[in-house]
Amino acid sequence: MGVAEGIRKHGFRKWYERELLGSHGWLVLTFLCTIGLFAAFEGLSLGRGGDARLGNLVAIGVCGVVGVVALRRYLGRLMHAEAAANQAVCARCEAYGRLEVTAEDRAGEQLRVRCRRCGHEWTMHV
Ligand SMILES: [Zn+2]
Repeated sequence: MGVAEGIRKHGFRKWYERELLGSHGWLVLTFLCTIGLFAAFEGLSLGRGGDARLGNLVAIGVCGVVGVVALRRYLGRLMHAEAAANQAVCARCEAYGRLEVTAEDRAGEQLRVRCRRCGHEWTMHV
């Protein structure tokens, strides 16, 4: 779901809240992968050979890759939401997040929005 569609469907404040919750879900996955990495390194340090060693090496690889992807998604989604939130204040009446999307460009990178309180319009770069 794009930003414009999300704001139209839920309103800006709910959209922002959902983005924060979603991004922190990725943070939780990053944390779990970190625990998995520590456990796998601990398993390797115990010095068991054969299948246990191979299993720990596979766990290190999987947890490392998934953890990096989850961290990137966490940071990307969080920064995206914060960038939108920083532009969600009406310059005329200073209302925060009380806006509606009136138009968007094809790429969905610029939104034309209108304040619900005073009708002021501005462009958000998302
Ligand atoms: Zn306003």
